[in-house]
Amino acid sequence: MQYSKLLLPTLKEDPAEAEVVSHKLMFRAGCIRKLSMGIYTWMPAGLRSLQKVERIIREEMNRAGAQEVLMPAVQPAELWQESGRWDYYGKELLRFQDRHGRDCCMGPTHEEVITDLVKREVHSYRQMPINLYQIQTKFRDEIRPRFGVMRSREFIMKDAYSFDVDDSAAGEAYKMMHEAYNKVFERCGLKFVAVEADSGAIGGSFSHEFMVLASSGEDEVAACDCGYGANVEKAEVRYAGGEADSSSVPPLELVDTPQQRTIEEVTTFMKVSPEEVAKTLVFETDKGLVVICVRADHDANPAKVKNLLGANYAELATDEDVMKVTGAPVGFAGPMGIKDAPVYLDNALKGLPSFVSGANKADAHYKNMVPGRDFTPTGWADLRTIRQGDPCPRCEGTVTVARGIEVGHIFKLGTKYSEAMKATYLDADGKEKPIVMGCYGIGVGRTLAAAIEQNHDGNGICWPVPLAPWEVTILPLKVKDEETMRVARDIETKLEAAGIEVLLDDRDERPGVKFKDADLLGVPLRITLGARGLAEGIAEVKERTSGEESSVSLDDIVTYATDWVVERRK
Ligand SMILES: [Zn+2]
Repeated sequence: MQYSKLLLPTLKEDPAEAEVVSHKLMFRAGCIRKLSMGIYTWMPAGLRSLQKVERIIREEMNRAGAQEVLMPAVQPAELWQESGRWDYYGKELLRFQDRHGRDCCMGPTHEEVITDLVKREVHSYRQMPINLYQIQTKFRDEIRPRFGVMRSREFIMKDAYSFDVDDSAAGEAYKMMHEAYNKVFERCGLKFVAVEADSGAIGGSFSHEFMVLASSGEDEVAACDCGYGANVEKAEVRYAGGEADSSSVPPLELVDTPQQRTIEEVTTFMKVSPEEVAKTLVFETDKGLVVICVRADHDANPAKVKNLLGANYAELATDEDVMKVTGAPVGFAGPMGIKDAPVYLDNALKGLPSFVSGANKADAHYKNMVPGRDFTPTGWADLRTIRQGDPCPRCEGTVTVARGIEVGHIFKLGTKYSEAMKATYLDADGKEKPIVMGCYGIGVGRTLAAAIEQNHDGNGICWPVPLAPWEVTILPLKVKDEETMRVARDIETKLEAAGIEVLLDDRDERPGVKFKDADLLGVPLRITLGARGLAEGIAEVKERTSGEESSVSLDDIVTYATDWVVERRK
């Protein structure tokens, strides 16, 4: 493909509104252009990459036995009224009326349409399992669309829906989609992790998020080489230490600590490290106030406090409530002498023979505090947030904590929609039962943006080979030189005949401009044809991601480049 004939407008400047690197680079590399707030056009280079993600998704969905359909973008309000979501979906649902005054919406998701379809077409257990998917444009009227195609209002999504006779069959469908998603993101050449997640607004009993790891990600995930992954809010902390021996700890001692409230003040004043201090926090929940202690260098986890009590919410109590429960101003709370609230200690405190804590009176702390000896806690529990280097909950390894971007989400929906919309079937005994559903989404454009967040440098995009708009770019430095162009076209023709996707930069531009654009576009392998090299019968080859350079003889260049690309396709 000749650069001079392509609509491939590169830019030196970042767009003013762009906050994340993928947005900046997709714009500068001519992949996308903005039409309106949160609405983008895919340009030729961007579309080539987008279609590669789509192709990988199609292959893996088909392999998993799913069938492709294409549902309408415009949906009638009746279906949303039937499911009950018309009233509570809120302003993200773009609603309008047609010329007959009928309420409609632009589909942000397709549970209603697909459930209606299956209700009409599937009546018997013999017609299941069935899994239907589509790759289609969706619209969610986000109040603050940001990050380019990462969080746009109009976006392309793969959504799949499975229909089964019972929970166990639905579990099998879920497992197959989990595996298909692993293959999709592996084949895209991405580093990712699947984490257990809360199922959020869509509802349902169980879900996993697929997160592409990138430092700019909005979510934090804990992952281990054994395959374990979880959102840090959810990840359990396995206590791997033993119980410390407290038999020779001196008696409890009250220490005057005037005005020493913060952990930093207390540790400096008492000459101890945060690892030797228990910090005491009071949480307010719908089950009442609760006091918890964690090591001062650890973070208390409100979600774990909530789960421990079986509460619906848990948040830090007000200063007044802290005083009410502890009898002390904030900064001097401790686990001893608490009235009217349970006291739970985090497991990590088991590893300390004794600790320093607030004394529940102003300007005082205790040292040599031993739980069991000096006071009796209500119980011990995992109450802190996991962090880098903590033991993995599933194996003997340790977890790493990384940031991630959610690119896929799979849900067990159960019978939420089938019951609301009366999608039933007759089982082998002729009994009517609700169909059991699952739903499975991949943000197609977002996957590309996440790939860039994970693969770029100061000069531009470093596409993984499976997602690159072109696999090889040829840079003839002097396009006015006939011999240079003859060699360049010869290599292009032979590579294309070998099935390699080639971008030939035939523009009459300075070498500096061509090198800069090649780096910005992120084509994985660059072949440079300069006058001196040609005289010696060699081309200069550079790998975009590693930056490795080598000289390859013109006789071998086609085989070399073909092998290099094919090895890296997935
Ligand atoms: Zn592990």
